[in-house]
Amino acid sequence: MEVKNLRVNGQRLKFTLEMMAKIGATAGGGVHRLALSDEDKQARGLFLEWLKEIDLVVTVDEMGNIFGKRDGKRPNLPTVLTGSHIDSQPQGGRFDGILGVMGALEVLRTIHENHIETERPVMIVNWTNEEGTRFPPAMVGSGVWAGKLDRDWVYDQADIQGKKLGGELERIGYKGQQPARKWPVHAYYELHIEQGPILEKEGKRVGVPKGILGLNWYDVYIEGKANQVGPTPMEGRNDALCTAAEMILKVNELPMRMGGNMVATVGEIHNFPNSRNIIPGRVHFTVDIRSWDDDLCLRAWEELKKDFGRISEKWGCPVKLVETWRIEHAPFDEKLVKRVGETAKYLGFSTHFMVSGAGHDASYVNQVAPTAMIFVPSIGGRSHVEVENTKGEDCEAGANVLLHCVLQSALER
Ligand SMILES: [Zn+2]
Repeated sequence: MEVKNLRVNGQRLKFTLEMMAKIGATAGGGVHRLALSDEDKQARGLFLEWLKEIDLVVTVDEMGNIFGKRDGKRPNLPTVLTGSHIDSQPQGGRFDGILGVMGALEVLRTIHENHIETERPVMIVNWTNEEGTRFPPAMVGSGVWAGKLDRDWVYDQADIQGKKLGGELERIGYKGQQPARKWPVHAYYELHIEQGPILEKEGKRVGVPKGILGLNWYDVYIEGKANQVGPTPMEGRNDALCTAAEMILKVNELPMRMGGNMVATVGEIHNFPNSRNIIPGRVHFTVDIRSWDDDLCLRAWEELKKDFGRISEKWGCPVKLVETWRIEHAPFDEKLVKRVGETAKYLGFSTHFMVSGAGHDASYVNQVAPTAMIFVPSIGGRSHVEVENTKGEDCEAGANVLLHCVLQSALER
């Protein structure tokens, strides 16, 4: 078959996605498959079986990143890499991450069964702990591989029960031998659901992101004074939760105040001791600020710090601020972005140029190799929730765009 007429098998892709969705399936139709959990282990096992079925050479590195390699005519040329992540959010969806891995698998199956000879090796990857929900921060597998995060520091990150990432990697049997270190990559493509409402609203099939927003994570710790709610008068209270409430609204108002393209969110809050008859004595919450403009994010944080200082003083509740994690905005490789758009058009799909508001492994890979992503619509723009959904034909469309982008890069001499 002529290469330009190749298409993925949409039914098979749908079936593999369904098989994966059974691992960690939730009652609400979603998936709970946290990084390095038993479910993650089970999904990795199935993934490995599928890689071996199509004769890929499998390696697992010391971060548990799984690679499957299919050689080209010139095995020494830099590889074409494609994939995403198998782990999910708690009570998350059936498409986030896994579509990019199963889409890449479908691409390799198609290349394999049609005996296509590429010039360059093609590799599939599953990056460890993209979500960062059990072990913050996010995208550590690709981050260490790209040389942007320290391996031992990542090993030392603990989940809420105090279990370390390194230990859990060993427990599930995925602490590999190979160093997690980048090698020359000719092109990296990641297929992903949009996780937002734009494609659906625009009525477009394939999203072509020019890059990923800069992302800034902070942790806020407020110290109040716990006391019995009945006998303690309103006056003079040091209520840590009220302090937090005022601060949280400031975060929400931030994008409006700063102008420019920005989103700011408090998504996690812990109130102690969390009892209806005790004045909150301690609160911890997170702040997430994103924009294409890295400086705007930093200026926004400076503004926020001033607000937090004022609010903290007003309530007599000292506040501690921790700058947890920061990744600058990631403009993708122009040539590859153009290729994604043109390939989608050639295949007859409508396209929409956009930016990615969500972080992806592509952020880190982009720092060391030419990178692009392919987005497909999320129904209702919903993601990181059980109702997350993408039409079968859209998954297939995305996989076909991925197939032809990978082939074009892999056929380059
Ligand atoms: Zn994802």
